[in-house]
Amino acid sequence: MSTQFQPTDQTGHVSRRLPDLPPDFLAWQRVPVYVGTGDTRSLVACPDTIKECQEIMSFCHKHGLSICPRGSGRSYGDAILNDQNVILDMSNMNRVIEVDGESGTVTVEPGVRLVDVYEQVHHLGWTIPASPTDSTISVGGALAANVNGKDSWRVGNFGDQLIQLKVMTADGEVISIDRQNNEPLFMAVIGSMGLLALVVEVKIRLMKIPSPYLEIQITAAANVDDLINKLDHIKEHNDFLVVWVDAYAKGDKLGRSVIHATRWSDQTQDPATVQADIAKSVASLANQKNRAMMAYKVLRPFINLGFHLQQLPIRLFNSFYYHLNDRQKPVKEKAERQMFLEHNFDKSYTVPPPDILCGPHGYTVQITVPRSVAKEAMTEMLQLCQSIPCPPATTILRLHRKDEHVISFSEDGFSLNVEFHPKKRHARAMATFMENLIECGIKYGSRVHLPKDMTLTADQFQRLYPRHKEFMELKQEWDPDNLFQSDMYRRLFVTDKASSPQ
Ligand SMILES: Cc1cc2nc3c(=O)[nH]c(=O)nc-3n(C[C@H](O)[C@H](O)[C@H](O)COP(=O)(O)OP(=O)(O)OC[C@H]3O[C@@H](n4cnc5c(N)ncnc54)[C@H](O)[C@@H]3O)c2cc1C
Repeated sequence: MSTQFQPTDQTGHVSRRLPDLPPDFLAWQRVPVYVGTGDTRSLVACPDTIKECQEIMSFCHKHGLSICPRGSGRSYGDAILNDQNVILDMSNMNRVIEVDGESGTVTVEPGVRLVDVYEQVHHLGWTIPASPTDSTISVGGALAANVNGKDSWRVGNFGDQLIQLKVMTADGEVISIDRQNNEPLFMAVIGSMGLLALVVEVKIRLMKIPSPYLEIQITAAANVDDLINKLDHIKEHNDFLVVWVDAYAKGDKLGRSVIHATRWSDQTQDPATVQADIAKSVASLANQKNRAMMAYKVLRPFINLGFHLQQLPIRLFNSFYYHLNDRQKPVKEKAERQMFLEHNFDKSYTVPPPDILCGPHGYTVQITVPRSVAKEAMTEMLQLCQSIPCPPATTILRLHRKDEHVISFSEDGFSLNVEFHPKKRHARAMATFMENLIECGIKYGSRVHLPKDMTLTADQFQRLYPRHKEFMELKQEWDPDNLFQSDMYRRLFVTDKASSPQ
């Protein structure tokens, strides 16, 4: 444990008050960024109880350190970095406190993983809507980033599923907030990226499902127009939608894609089979993930070679995948059913994880496209993506509905999630491209999803998120000393860097 570190206080001055050795509950750790390169060093604490969180908070107040909460650490960039300051790892606070199978609610600590909640509620005929595609994401991380699922166009984002939160404010007090009590704080903590308060308990409204199985339908679309029309039709009969887009196709094939649509199956099974299938899926998720990670470790040199050659292999793969699914026109119905747990989560291991997909110089951008300008905006964004030497490695389209939280990513419409794997020498071309893409987004009224962002500037963020001023006023009210910070906070939320907190 080093004693060389000199922390800065909230005004940027070096604090002299940190003891030579941090107390037992804090340890210096190297904290790397998940996607791309970059290293930070932070004091990391893993509290087990609310009381321990309060002790850490009071230590940070005393020594002029800021706190960044962390869930499962699955955000891509600097939202979960807090260089030379404290990271509060909430993964030990992971109890399911109460499942109410009658009224359909579950109360949990914030570090609990989504898969652990599904395991407890699916056999009772309930689910949590708006799930992201990584089963190990924590409830705290999902709410603080207000994540979206393949069903968010129908049910809203993760924040829309929440009934009540217990949060610890910067003064160490624990308060209950909901849509009646402290509504402004409730609406701002959801999506706050951990910058307003520490969430210590969450009550979630569950949704009734006919079974934990899904029925799957796969359809190809020939171009942007065809895609928008088909989605409008397919939406009527499905609960989940996600679209793989061939970002290389040009001309009248621009936007050709493969639509994956699923709906909850209403074919019932006896309770014992359901329970056994759920247990099997949960076990298989962990095994699948380990197997996939090992496979990607072995295959990494070949995948990297593919990315080194870049355009040719991705173009060939895209073409192959489109034609594979376009053969059985107009619609390919898959007869078999699949467990939600396998379909929503396992399938994400069939593509390499974001750190491999993006490589050391790459990143992901998830940008929304409002419905009213969908055709023009999507066309322009896809054309921009084709103008660089390294078009996206993957392009995924989702559907969304409007979201009312203060820092809110979703609009009525679509989002494009593009993952880039550029080489170092592409840095200048990528910087110009990103400026053009964001300006294009600002012109059409887009947002950029913060937990995946690593590239926005403060100016771009503030133009994309007009309600950031309201957020900063709430921060001033609830966290006047800027206790809650992250590297992302200092990059995006603070305009006057000269007098900014460090
Ligand atoms: C493979 C993969 C697939 C993904 N798929 C999707 C997807 O489908 N949809 C989507 O929207 N996102 C998706 N993501 C992004 C992911 O959902 C978000 O980054 C999510 O926030 C990660 O949750 P986490 O538990 O890892 O939280 P972390 O990444 O650790 O933290 C996320 C944010 O929450 C804050 N936070 C965490 N805990 C608390 C707390 N107790 N109190 C206050 N603030 C807290 C942190 O400070 C940080 O700002 C995906 C990521 C991966 C790696």
